[in-house]
Amino acid sequence: EVKEQGRDGWHFFSAGLEEKVRQKLSISNGLRLAIEREELSVRFQPIVDSDLPHIVGAEMLLRWQPAEGPISPALFIPVAEMTGSIIPIGAWVLAQACQAEADWRTRWGDRAPGYISVNVSARQLNERNLLDEVKAMIKTHACDPSRILLEITETALMADIDTNLRMLRSLADLGFRVAIDDFGTGYSSLAQLTKLPVNVLKIDKAFIDGIEHQPESRAVVKAIIGLGRALGLKMVAEGVENAAQLLELRNFGCDYIQGYLFYRPLPAAEFIETVEQNINAKQQALEPPLFFL
Ligand code: C2E
Ligand code: MG
Ligand code: MG
Ligand code: MG
Repeated sequence: EVKEQGRDGWHFFSAGLEEKVRQKLSISNGLRLAIEREELSVRFQPIVDSDLPHIVGAEMLLRWQPAEGPISPALFIPVAEMTGSIIPIGAWVLAQACQAEADWRTRWGDRAPGYISVNVSARQLNERNLLDEVKAMIKTHACDPSRILLEITETALMADIDTNLRMLRSLADLGFRVAIDDFGTGYSSLAQLTKLPVNVLKIDKAFIDGIEHQPESRAVVKAIIGLGRALGLKMVAEGVENAAQLLELRNFGCDYIQGYLFYRPLPAAEFIETVEQNINAKQQALEPPLFFL
């Protein structure tokens, strides 16, 4: 009897594992055709100033919608990184960012959001021809790389710091800005941080989640913001969902806020509408009240 139970347990485990392998296989096959089938799109999540709800930038987030239904980036990005599909997909994403940057500037001039953030995988930084590719993109779209913020996760960055550092320096030389994403979850040393061509730190949602009631999270966030300030970096808190979190972050001097409290990732048309409203609201706030006239 005991044996049978054990065997059943094993069968159950095996089925779960097989299912996972099959899922990954189907994702990896599907991803190879995703671009030509036009199943990829991007969303834009506005990022606001922590003092005023002015939109200062936006993070571009990839979406994949195959015929069977949408699949989360948390699921397909790791597969794309493993199979190498992230190389063509990442190039497609970067081109979208260049295009969006130029489009915003044409549309809104100097009232355009200051920057567009785009996620870059370490695998992309390993590609020798990445530099030539992005140079061509800048030319094609006539974009301003100083308004594009490349996000790389702390974990990916530190896994091969020498290679990544070299590539990031070259990209920074072209004018791109650099952010460390999911900061606090990896293991960067302070000495390394000062050597990196970094402009922005993004504090991981994991620390923001408990900030209103967990002294530990509060201490970590406070320390990260202090560190960033000392190094002259801009700080973004990600995953801010309530007003209590916002208040804490404001008190600590966090510059920018990204989270559902203000905005979710929006399709392009909705994003454009949202920025337009934001620009109008800003304009109204600047106009003198009637009684001054
Ligand atoms: P990330 O770069 O840290 O992006 C932030 C994630 O947090 C996004 O998830 C966003 O939708 C989510 N988020 C923002 N505010 C809130 C909030 O208030 N509450 C909650 N619960 N979530 C919030 P998303 O879009 O599912 O992307 C997941 C991850 O997939 C990203 O994390 C990034 O690592 C990766 N990713 C997305 N697009 C790309 C891409 O184009 N290239 C690469 N290499 N990775 C990407
Ligand atoms: Mg990111
Ligand atoms: Mg992040
Ligand atoms: Mg994150």
